[in-house]
Amino acid sequence: MHLERIEMTGFKSFADKTVIEFDKGVTAIVGPNGSGKSNLSEAVRWVLGEQSAKNLRGKKMNDIVFAGSQSRKPINIAEVTLIFNNEDRTLPLDFSEVSLTRRINRNGDSDCFINRKPCRLKDITDLLMDSGVGKDSFSMISQGKVEQIFQNKPEERRAIFEDAAGVAKYKNRKTSAERKLSETMDHLDRVQDILHEIE
Ligand code: ATP
Repeated sequence: MHLERIEMTGFKSFADKTVIEFDKGVTAIVGPNGSGKSNLSEAVRWVLGEQSAKNLRGKKMNDIVFAGSQSRKPINIAEVTLIFNNEDRTLPLDFSEVSLTRRINRNGDSDCFINRKPCRLKDITDLLMDSGVGKDSFSMISQGKVEQIFQNKPEERRAIFEDAAGVAKYKNRKTSAERKLSETMDHLDRVQDILHEIE
């Protein structure tokens, strides 16, 4: 799976419809200060499920809608679509191309779509869960994150490696299995007590 294309309109500094194609391999985005490089990476993170306006350098989520410039009026809707090549079926959908869209208007109303069909944001984050792509996964490494990794405690750093190695989901499953086991043991104890009372 790889990101093939981004289409966006009205997102931060990208007032007009902007389409960016990514070839396989490495793509570098270069440009002068303030030209929108970080806005582009934030557009990706937003569609992947970012829910914190602060992480998108805003106060509220609709701050991401193009707010106007000296030469242009503000726009009412921001929309970003990520198009993934899914020929290897990394995403569990039987489509060779999967598009994920997020839209918000100035009132704060927002919509999400998978392959242009309306869905909840949770459907997008669930779809991405085991794919290694997600707003918190290491497919997105923001400027501060590298520094943060160096400053982490050893156990926090270990969690990063476990996540990258795909161990995290098994750890989560183990924790939930242990919780269920402990609940079942409690129930068994109670059954034993009742049996004693009856005898
Ligand atoms: P640097 O190299 O300095 O990090 P950059 O290329 O990453 O810069 P960005 O931070 O992505 O640039 O873009 C900043 C520009 O986006 C600013 O000019 C800012 O005014 C504009 N911008 C941010 N939010 C909006 C918005 N909601 N509406 C219009 N323009 C916006």
